[in-house]
Amino acid sequence: MNAPNKSGWKPTMEVADASGETVTTTGNRALMLEERLIFEIGKAETTGVDLPEIDKRAPSRLGGFERSEPIGLVGLTEPETVRHYTRLSRQNYGIDLGFFPLGSCTMKHNPRLNEKLARLPGFADIHPLAPQSSVQGALEVIDQLATWLKTLTGMPGVAMSPKAGAHGELCGILAIRAAHTAAGNPREVVLVPESAHGTNPATAAFAGYKVENIPATPEGRVDVEALKARLGKGGEGDSDVAAVMITNPNTCGLFEKDFRTIADAVHAVGGYVYCDGANFNAIVGRVRPGDLGVDAMHINLHKTFSTPHGGGGPGSGPVVFSEALMPFAPLPYVEKDEAGEFHIVEEENADAEHQTFGRMTAFHGQMGMFTRALTYMLSHGADGLKQVSEDAVLNANYILRSLEDILHAPFADSGPCMHEALFGDKDFGGGLSTLDLAKGLIDEGYHPMTVYFPLVVHGAMLVEPTETESKASIDQFITAFRHVVQRALDGDETLKQAPYFAPRRRLDETAAARKPKLAWEEPAE
Ligand SMILES: *Cc1c(COP(=O)(O)O)cnc(C)c1O
Repeated sequence: MNAPNKSGWKPTMEVADASGETVTTTGNRALMLEERLIFEIGKAETTGVDLPEIDKRAPSRLGGFERSEPIGLVGLTEPETVRHYTRLSRQNYGIDLGFFPLGSCTMKHNPRLNEKLARLPGFADIHPLAPQSSVQGALEVIDQLATWLKTLTGMPGVAMSPKAGAHGELCGILAIRAAHTAAGNPREVVLVPESAHGTNPATAAFAGYKVENIPATPEGRVDVEALKARLGKGGEGDSDVAAVMITNPNTCGLFEKDFRTIADAVHAVGGYVYCDGANFNAIVGRVRPGDLGVDAMHINLHKTFSTPHGGGGPGSGPVVFSEALMPFAPLPYVEKDEAGEFHIVEEENADAEHQTFGRMTAFHGQMGMFTRALTYMLSHGADGLKQVSEDAVLNANYILRSLEDILHAPFADSGPCMHEALFGDKDFGGGLSTLDLAKGLIDEGYHPMTVYFPLVVHGAMLVEPTETESKASIDQFITAFRHVVQRALDGDETLKQAPYFAPRRRLDETAAARKPKLAWEEPAE
């Protein structure tokens, strides 16, 4: 099967069907085309562009830094390049292909109108150092978006420049640190619940704080009594706790209904309340975090307000601030003067009102995300955004209640869930686990849900449908999901080999993490 054909081409893998038999010589399966790495198909001397010959007699202006050896990169012709990347893209899964149930990620449909507006040359082609008089429209977009964010959250200030949720967390905690430092003591500890997203403790540690866990109650929410006990009884200044970081709705998919009580207790000892707002999609238009006593909260524009994202970008994580933290917010920010002109405020103003901790980024943030998010807001309107959160929550509850009879749902009795439904792998047979179920779902044509997070649930599976999905699409998912769950409960051994139909079979994920091969090596003949 692997013999070279006339052109010397030999398939690099054999595609097997579920019974283990090779089914084609090429590795292709009709319209599913196999594709080798660019290093295997490209040649160093091939290029898709026609460049003029270099005049070797002309004196070099590189001062001895000319490359003396080939760079070692391969090239393809233009049609080969187009095919290579198109074929690879067809082996990928995306929100435009089907339901993408990743919990904690808010993978929603990205309206094409957003893309159209973000590509307008007046937004897409401007330079961050362009004269401010020439980019007034772009500055107005930033200003309008800031107004929407402040209105939706009920908070008086916002820093627009952070470039992702985690970056926003750092911005918020640095502002909190600056506020404590200005008051004479940065304090030592940040409290984070057990169910927190990994970025929360990482942020606190990065900002120089010790991280301590807040336990959860059996119903999946912050244990308020334990938290109060940790804060200490004392009055202002007595506590070593700089801040608590709480995600609301939390990563168990539940609303922290005691948030106001928690915030009051933290404030009573002079601490600040950081809210991880990544799950804002569940409450946008219904709850204003400012009313809950939040001091700082990032908003993942790329989740709640759409934008294609994943694999680390692109993102945007503006941070809204309470009155108490506003003086410490980062530079730069956009201001409108009395004549209606927009200005970027770049310089620190050394009065009591401005004690900025510095900068998060060189410039003003992610213009492309700003344009998309504002387009999303304006096209939905205030009523539309409220319906977004209502539909997202309804969809998640539909999934929770459609699966709880067959799949362990640890917090199903804690009341309705918010934007995501959480399950565990209790009662799976034959040593099967969440991982096997996830791989089985790939064969059914679904990107798996978030697995093994949050850590408080054994074999966690976190499913977030968002408002994007129709009832028909959710019903289809539930049917497929129930089928794979039943196989797991029955201890169906074949699940251990899944996926069978993906472009690549099951990978050794431990080896990939522990001994990653980061560069291609020519295989020994
Ligand atoms: C996504 C997410 C983050 C991090 O946001 P990024 O934009 O990926 O940096 C933080 N907390 C929670 C709960 C999240 O879901």
